[in-house]
Amino acid sequence: MRLDKFLAHTGYGTRKSVKELLKSKKITVNELIVKDGKIHIQPETDKIHVAGERVDYQEFYYFMLHKPQGVISATEDNLHKTVIELLKPQDRLSNPFPVGRLDKDTEGLLLLTNDGALAHELLSPRKEVDKCYEAIIEGLIGEKEIEAFEKSITLEDGFRCRPAKLTVLSTDLVAQTANIQVIIHEGKFHQVKRMFEAVDRKVQYLKRLSMGPLELDNSLKIGHYRALTADELAQLK
Ligand code: URA
Repeated sequence: MRLDKFLAHTGYGTRKSVKELLKSKKITVNELIVKDGKIHIQPETDKIHVAGERVDYQEFYYFMLHKPQGVISATEDNLHKTVIELLKPQDRLSNPFPVGRLDKDTEGLLLLTNDGALAHELLSPRKEVDKCYEAIIEGLIGEKEIEAFEKSITLEDGFRCRPAKLTVLSTDLVAQTANIQVIIHEGKFHQVKRMFEAVDRKVQYLKRLSMGPLELDNSLKIGHYRALTADELAQLK
């Protein structure tokens, strides 16, 4: 990797400010002052120092985002704000992307990373990582719907979902809505909404609480994010 790119990626500013640093002879590679940002370095083995401070190399980044409604789970979009735009500029340098999608109007847990292999594993249909959602449903939920979810819901395109655990948390008899929790095992497009449509109900509000072992940190405000802890990462791998 080029030295200037490496420094920009590790948070030492833009390529322009990196150039300034290089000019001021503050950068050493294996103890030798380097002024040319175009040289190639081995991030894992070369010792890079900026003003005497060792630059740690991190190849992969993992962020837990509490996705708000109104932003889309994509890296780029001409019309809408994307989840990537919620990251600070230095956290975008590693080109993170969302692991799977939440609809524009869905909020909750979204993992952002540049680790393609981990994303692939988590999204693989073979793995069928559990996802837990909380939702407000228009219409009441009774034993009939719970059993239908437990047996297997068939979506309108013929896809048969794996048995899903549906739990009623509370019921609002005046508004005729139910606050529920559901655990599904696949990640089909609009899956939760389509599962409820299959039992003639409509999802009014949807929030993802967990994905496999990764749980949304309750202290993360909507629209905020943080790096995964070492423990969270170890559980995901
Ligand atoms: N199911 C949906 O319908 N929407 C989501 O955003 C996630 C799961």
